[in-house]
Amino acid sequence: MTFASELQAIYYYASPVQRDSTFLKKIAQNAGRINTVAEEFLTQNIRRAEPTAAAVCAIFSIIFGRNDGVIKTSSDTNWSQNCSLSGQCSIKPCTTMEVAVALKIITLLDCKFSVWSSGHNLSSQFFGVGSEATVSIGTGSTWNKVYHELENYGLTVVGERGAGVGVGDLMLGGGISHFTNAWRLVAINVKSFEVVLANSQVVTASARTNQDLFKALKGGGANFGIVTRCELFAKPKYKQWHTVKSYSVNDVKAVMEAAAQVERNMITDEKAGFSLTATSNALIATMYYQDWSSATPAAFSPFENVKPLAKIIPETNGAEESSVIAETQGSIAKCAVCTVTVKTDAAFYAKTLGFIQEVSRIQPEIQLTQSFQPISPLMIAKSNALSSDLLNLQAVSQAFVIVSTRWTDPGYDKIGLEMAVTVVNKITKAARADGKLLENNFMNDSNLNRSPLGNYEDQRVGLMKEASAKYDPEGIFQRLQNNVFLISKMEQAEVL
Ligand SMILES: Cc1cc2nc3c(=O)[nH]c(=O)nc-3n(C[C@H](O)[C@H](O)[C@H](O)COP(=O)(O)OP(=O)(O)OC[C@H]3O[C@@H](n4cnc5c(N)ncnc54)[C@H](O)[C@@H]3O)c2cc1C
Repeated sequence: MTFASELQAIYYYASPVQRDSTFLKKIAQNAGRINTVAEEFLTQNIRRAEPTAAAVCAIFSIIFGRNDGVIKTSSDTNWSQNCSLSGQCSIKPCTTMEVAVALKIITLLDCKFSVWSSGHNLSSQFFGVGSEATVSIGTGSTWNKVYHELENYGLTVVGERGAGVGVGDLMLGGGISHFTNAWRLVAINVKSFEVVLANSQVVTASARTNQDLFKALKGGGANFGIVTRCELFAKPKYKQWHTVKSYSVNDVKAVMEAAAQVERNMITDEKAGFSLTATSNALIATMYYQDWSSATPAAFSPFENVKPLAKIIPETNGAEESSVIAETQGSIAKCAVCTVTVKTDAAFYAKTLGFIQEVSRIQPEIQLTQSFQPISPLMIAKSNALSSDLLNLQAVSQAFVIVSTRWTDPGYDKIGLEMAVTVVNKITKAARADGKLLENNFMNDSNLNRSPLGNYEDQRVGLMKEASAKYDPEGIFQRLQNNVFLISKMEQAEVL
């Protein structure tokens, strides 16, 4: 079989809906050129990244005649510059079939690759409202665009809280939203995934079809294929009330007591969403509530006894799109993130402020923050009842603590990462000593050096390994993909 005919074969195992005869014709018309490039490359027996990527780009360009297949010396812009590795070739497929063709070229040439959604990980634009209250979203889109479209219909979906963040990877790590308390993790709200497998076959994974893949994708990360589309359950409650207020660190005890009480209130009031962010000199409470409200919802009343320094966002009746835009900081130059999970406890939360104050002094020019993202036992019990994600959280009141550092000077790249990891190590040590540690690291905010998969139960890792062996028997995603949260590399993760 020639290289060109191997590419053409993709057409025949695509479903009738996905079949695209245009690319078939283009391959037929250019078969000679495609085979020449492939043969020239393969006979040289070169296995370095640069010429391999050049050959991938050349063949993609021949077929699709677009500039996005040309060699680039740097990657597209990532949210954090220190996460950008120079790419030798950047391909921007517009349809599922283009993803399938690109992946076939990559695997035939044995080329290292990364999937890039929106580059918001720190370590399509096709869109339609379906029936049965589901929404079909191409993973090339960003969440705020999705919210914008849906709000025209009085709908929303359970998604990310940052403007510009891509639909791609968030749900593969579970995904927390403003209203995870009511609607559970983002992954649980996925009705089906469309996935391009390593052999370029396009499959649907849902509760009815390829159930094992469906389950593995919900928290299993980028181990099984490229997700090109997902169908999410739509929510009719798109209105929301929100506010963001800052408090003095001198009031840390009162603020943390209020935060812990809000977390307890969330157990009985599923409409409440909350997070508490600490820097070395301010504490910032972010409060969300489903539906509009003329007064502060009772769930947040514990904060009425603490005087804020400022209202960063005043009490606002809005919707998801406006709130994610208001809340999102622009891209900053460089950022590192690391996470740990602890049980809800006001005194323990207050203790952790000392850690960021101490570590901030190592390099005061690096901004250091930690954010408590509460996960209530109410939401965990509802999720576990469905048994439909891999996270298997323990049903106790807890917070994912997300520690992040930001800086601009490239000279701080090493210390920037180390400071985030140092704070997490201190919190981990103290939480273990105080009986507050929970052994689950949230994948979406995990660090290169701590694979969250290390905390997955054996049974869930087994499920992932089985899905990987079944859907990617040659281990293409494990071998050729640059990704730290791969099942094949989970034992290699080191804690700094
Ligand atoms: C400003 C900001 C706000 C955030 N808010 C939230 C939040 O509210 N809730 C939350 O849970 N997390 C949040 N995160 C974390 C975020 O979800 C993760 O960083 C996530 O990995 C970013 O997804 P991405 O699509 O941009 O992935 P990228 O950075 O583009 O890619 C990361 C990895 O995902 C894989 N990947 C990407 N797309 C696909 C795909 N379509 N199919 C298969 N694999 C793919 C790639 O292989 C790559 O290894 C936020 C991060 C930032 C920077």
